[in-house]
Amino acid sequence: MARPRSKIDITCQISKCSYYLKEDGKDIVKRGKNRAGHQQYFCKHCNSWFVETANTPLYHKHLPLDEIILICKLLVEKLGIRAIERATGHHRDTICRLLEDFAIHAEVLTQFLLKDVELTPFEVDELWSTVKKNKRELSVSSPE
Ligand SMILES: [Zn+2]
Repeated sequence: MARPRSKIDITCQISKCSYYLKEDGKDIVKRGKNRAGHQQYFCKHCNSWFVETANTPLYHKHLPLDEIILICKLLVEKLGIRAIERATGHHRDTICRLLEDFAIHAEVLTQFLLKDVELTPFEVDELWSTVKKNKRELSVSSPE
């Protein structure tokens, strides 16, 4: 008899999979960790690998989760990028990149903020207005 599988609270992150982000009927197994220490998963429907941070702002990020959560919280407090730079010791470019990723991953991130960072819906709204404001300032100060 097969070893009982531990409960997996992740859905397939491969967009072409018919079980993409679907909870019901998913067939996902854990398969070790990658070099960054992130859990890797394998979807048996699409025969694809993905890591736990796929499709989240944490994907390809070197900042530890704690630090990202701290930056989120400071942003909610309406601290400016430079103030956060001083408070956390992270370069403002790092914080700006995080903000850009937030904008790209807005929907997934909202869920992450509510669940993992435990912000209230009101605080999440505040954060989004900060992201929008900073994005405007970024595009004014650095034309490409
Ligand atoms: Zn899949």
